[in-house]
Amino acid sequence: MQRRESKSGVTRREFLRNAAVTAVAGAAAGVGTAAGLRTARAEEAPTCDRRSCATGPRTLGRTGLEVFPLGLGAGGIKDAAVGRRALDLGINYFDTAEGYQDGKSEITLGKALAGRREEAVIATKWGPWGKETAEDYVAALEASLERLGTDYLDIIQLHCAESAEGVANDAVWEAFQRMRDAGKVKFNGISTHENQVEVVEAVIESGRYDQILLIYSALNGDQMKPAIRKLREADIGVVAMKGLAPVHEGKGTEAFSNLSGNPYQQAMQWVIKDENVATLIVNMPTHDEVQEAVAAARGEIVESAQAEFEEAVSTASLGLCRMCGACTGQCARGVRVAEVMRYRLYHDGYGDRARGASLYRALPAGASAAACSDCASCRVVCPWGVRVRDRMVDLHQRLA
Ligand code: SF4
Ligand code: SF4
Repeated sequence: MQRRESKSGVTRREFLRNAAVTAVAGAAAGVGTAAGLRTARAEEAPTCDRRSCATGPRTLGRTGLEVFPLGLGAGGIKDAAVGRRALDLGINYFDTAEGYQDGKSEITLGKALAGRREEAVIATKWGPWGKETAEDYVAALEASLERLGTDYLDIIQLHCAESAEGVANDAVWEAFQRMRDAGKVKFNGISTHENQVEVVEAVIESGRYDQILLIYSALNGDQMKPAIRKLREADIGVVAMKGLAPVHEGKGTEAFSNLSGNPYQQAMQWVIKDENVATLIVNMPTHDEVQEAVAAARGEIVESAQAEFEEAVSTASLGLCRMCGACTGQCARGVRVAEVMRYRLYHDGYGDRARGASLYRALPAGASAAACSDCASCRVVCPWGVRVRDRMVDLHQRLA
């Protein structure tokens, strides 16, 4: 297990150990204390099922699917038992993709859900890379079904639609309708990481998508809250990702060192409290991390703790990447800065070094940060103060 450090330098695992000590000392579950949300284990949180949680269940837009407000991001899943543990604790939304771990994510998730398929909502993704025709997409979906060991998907998402042009993919629409009519998939979805506001507008305008997966956290809330509200009004189900980015991004900053609670749980609750979001997917590689996340979803959301968390994010945020995508296309030499920053988050923030490195190394020649070290002056302007050249050079030295 890779170490995950909070901004205060305390790892996520150490938070979890501290929680156990708190419980032994007799604290009543540690949830919703006067000081805010303390780390809590799911077993110690108030009893609740999907219907009684203060924060759930939620309806995923026009799909009508009911989902727990916390979902499992299975991109890095290695152990089927962890996926099954998530299901046992009430999580019912599972996100994967054909490309995650070269298909191994789907295989492991399929093992986790074997025999309990009807309890789960499975969303996977077909990527546009190397596909042109509807037949290409149909073949990809058939392969995903086989790896997942199921005969239907709840949601198929177009992976990485980063512009209005990317949203308007006729081959995907044709393939989706064909597979829906064959009973192999129920709903059409889409995922985005860059130019999210533009993509949201295009998704609403197209009328083709039932669900969207997008980046949402305390770092980009000002920009994305209105867009998410519009999606809700259009009855498109919103699934959030990278909600822990504020904590991962700012490791070691002083602003987070004085937080009274577990910053990972506070970050999750920041997203979950927005009821326009149906569920937040979180990478949970271990049983402890599943429990930590479920406890956050079940715990009372304390306003003072949220205000404290927002203040910490605001204080620490200058120089932190918000994954806003404003740098896309700025580098005349073709470096894909926003994409490189995302892979850096996987590698350094999530601690998923293999995934971050392999995605970075798979970038086409010219798109990686190889050109940055001999670039006299960086022309990329980040509105949030990220020192782009320094970050690019550092990452390339470590991952190339
Ligand atoms: S580097 Fe700056 S402009 Fe680029 S995605 Fe991050 S915050 Fe946005
Ligand atoms: S340092 Fe140069 S090559 Fe690298 S992102 Fe900036 S402008 Fe592009």
